[in-house]
Amino acid sequence: MKCSFCDREAVYFRKYEGHYYCKGHFVKNIEKKVRRTINRNKLIEDGDRVAIALSGGKDSSNTLFIINKLFKDHPKVEFFALTLDEGIKGYRDKCVKKSKVLCKELGVEQFIFSFKKEFGFTIDELAERLETGFCGACGLLRRYLLNKKARELGATKLATGHNLDDECQSIIMNFLKGDFLRLARVGPMPHLAKHPRFVVRIKPLIQVPEEESILYNKIRKIPSCPKKCPYSFDNPLRGKTREFLKSLEETSPGIRYSLYESALKLASLVKEEFKSEKIKSCKECGEPSSREICKVCEFLKSIKS
Ligand code: SF4
Ligand code: ZN
Repeated sequence: MKCSFCDREAVYFRKYEGHYYCKGHFVKNIEKKVRRTINRNKLIEDGDRVAIALSGGKDSSNTLFIINKLFKDHPKVEFFALTLDEGIKGYRDKCVKKSKVLCKELGVEQFIFSFKKEFGFTIDELAERLETGFCGACGLLRRYLLNKKARELGATKLATGHNLDDECQSIIMNFLKGDFLRLARVGPMPHLAKHPRFVVRIKPLIQVPEEESILYNKIRKIPSCPKKCPYSFDNPLRGKTREFLKSLEETSPGIRYSLYESALKLASLVKEEFKSEKIKSCKECGEPSSREICKVCEFLKSIKS
């Protein structure tokens, strides 16, 4: 089949749109989409110093690659890569290696921090001690450390690699769990409560579906790690939600975009509910928290006892 925009061979059919894309038109379209997300939502502006959370996986690698493409010659925007090593043998070590290759290739400064050094244990060690809950703990510790390190490195924004599927999965899961505060955080720049220690999060890839992120990565030959975390079984709800979304998209192309748009509308109403919510500072570590003692300090205490 030919590309809908030129005479070249098509490599992708975008079912929800009805267009065929050759390699060249496909990558241009993805980059345009990301640029539009950034510009329309003012995700990156003059004076920003952006920390890009680079795990070494395809989404975060694509995020770094595109931000580098768009802003490498910008005189008023700085960016760097921020990589966390949770200590998962056979997985994260390989991803960290790939992330180093990418940063070297692009000439982007990279900072790497390990759970072992920062918290005193690896996720492998935690998984040996806990029967379950280590995946949730890993996510909690990662969000905490990313925010802390981004701030300490002078970042004004923290870019993550969340794609459209990740966002849609979170929307469904938060709805199922009745977590309306999290539901209100949907969107490319979800900053609800203000706190001097909070670095504003941005999601430049939020309009890019999973399969398009994979294809973009492949066509652009961006170094990244294709491996799946061996502990993802510890979060079965996400796995099931992913499958559910996939089957919905097969029968109703474009459903992910309409779910996302609906959630954005809902979020603007829900946000009102939480407008007066104050974010405190954790009494132990000083980081932002909705409680007296933050979840991370509580968790760290619980595993010591
Ligand atoms: Fe950590 Fe869970 Fe992600 Fe694995 S899947 S890296 S354990 S949050
Ligand atoms: Zn704390």
